Parts: sequence; C-alpha cells; structure tokens
Amino acid sequence: MQGDFREHLIVLRKLGVSAIEVKSPEDMSKVDGLIIPGGESTTIGKLMSRNGLDREIKVKHSQGIPIYGTCAGVILMAKEIEGSKQPRLAIADISVARNAYGGQLDSFEADILFQKSKLHSVFIRAPIISRTSKGVEVLAYHKKNPVLLRQGNLLMSTFHPELTQDARIHKYFLGMCSKRMKGKIH
Ligand code: GLN
Repeated sequence: MQGDFREHLIVLRKLGVSAIEVKSPEDMSKVDGLIIPGGESTTIGKLMSRNGLDREIKVKHSQGIPIYGTCAGVILMAKEIEGSKQPRLAIADISVARNAYGGQLDSFEADILFQKSKLHSVFIRAPIISRTSKGVEVLAYHKKNPVLLRQGNLLMSTFHPELTQDARIHKYFLGMCSKRMKGKIH
C-alpha cells in the first residue's frame, strides 16, 4: 500500500518468484506468502484498516500463511507499540519502540551475523524490539538488539534486505513459503 514494496518485488522476481502487489483483501487469496514492506507504519496501518486488508491478513495468518515484515512491517505485526495506539495487525508477541535509535543514528548500515556469516544491513529510522515472548526466536542481533526474529510462520527484520544485493533473507523467507506449500493441496 505504501513504502518500498517495489524493491521487494524486484528481489523476488530476480529469484524467479511470480510476485504481485497486495493492496486489497481479495489479493490475499492469490498469494502463498506476504511481505509487509518498510515505509510509514501509521500510513500503512490506516490504509489497511480502511479497506479491510488487515482483517484478511489476520484470517490468512490464523491459517498459517508465512508473513515477513521489514521495519514498518515489524511495527504493524507487533502486539505492542510503545506509546502508540496506531492501527496494527497485532500478530507477533513482541513490543517495539518506533524510531528508537534516535538522533544521528536514525539511519545507519552495519554488518550483522546471520547463519554464521556476515550480512550487510541497512537500518532506516528503525524500531528497536524492546520485548519478545517465549515463542519468538532471535536469528540475528545488532549490538545486543534483536534485529531478525521468527515466531512460527512470522519473520521480522528491523533492517531492509531489499536495499542490498544480498538475497539471503528473502531466500530464507521463500523457504518458509515453499515448506508450507508442499504440505498444501492446490
Ligand atoms: N520509522 C518508520 C515507522 O515508524 C519505519 C521506518 C522504515 O520502515 N524504514 O513507521
């Protein structure tokens, strides 16, 4: 609906996936996985609740569809957003603090460790995950802050892998999608 969905589409298409933009509740029936992009979480949240896309995402989530949120996407997935009542999906057992790096560090690039090898990551006015509950697994940290997390069929990164040439996180998410598709009768 808003944010850098085009960059995700480019990565997915390079990887051979027939990716589409998801803008209406009906679009959700056409996909086997969903990426919620970075952007402005208040805007995306408002637009989603206006046309009922949020309800449809929650239905598909309860049926087990894999969902990957980047940055603003993570904020929309969180059950708790510190100091904010903005519309959200509230599907992930985490709390987030928006724009928590503050000041000069609002945006930065850093190397993190993912599956034992370096991954260059771009953080843009990123949130900090301030609480995770038991079912949430942290897959990568940046300076003790969890920046890549998984809870069942939910994947979350506070950074933007669609802005670098390294497609490992997208491939990891596609692995989650194909695993589920194999267990499904089409
Ligand atoms: N700061 C934005 C928000 O709160 C998120 C920034 C991003 O997605 N890069 O929605």
